[in-house]
Amino acid sequence: MFFIGGVMQGRKVFDRFRQVVTCRRCGQYAALEAFMTYTYFMFFFIPLFKWGKQYFVRSTCCGTVWQIPREKGEAIARGEPVELTDADLTPTGDFRPIRRCAHCGCTVEESFSYCPNCGSPLS
Ligand SMILES: [Zn+2]
Ligand SMILES: [Zn+2]
Repeated sequence: MFFIGGVMQGRKVFDRFRQVVTCRRCGQYAALEAFMTYTYFMFFFIPLFKWGKQYFVRSTCCGTVWQIPREKGEAIARGEPVELTDADLTPTGDFRPIRRCAHCGCTVEESFSYCPNCGSPLS
């Protein structure tokens, strides 16, 4: 694709941050990964401005994404030790209640019609 300028979405993962929690969505013991999204204006392949920075964490168990407060996100970005609490995690649009197969009890995606584990039809 060719363009000379445009508004793009960027994403940066902070690999130095790692916190292990009991997932609020699925109840598994899992690591949180922190990342940031931002919008930038690109002109001749050079990013000129960045704005709209938002900070998130993602649980590695079920992939749920929560937004975290900007101050904490900025501290993570600076590589400072940050301890996130439940109150820091704001559910995003990706947050859906967990659905379980009535037959085998495994967790399944909301959109599935059949259990990927045992093949039972889901109601
Ligand atoms: Zn989870
Ligand atoms: Zn099943």
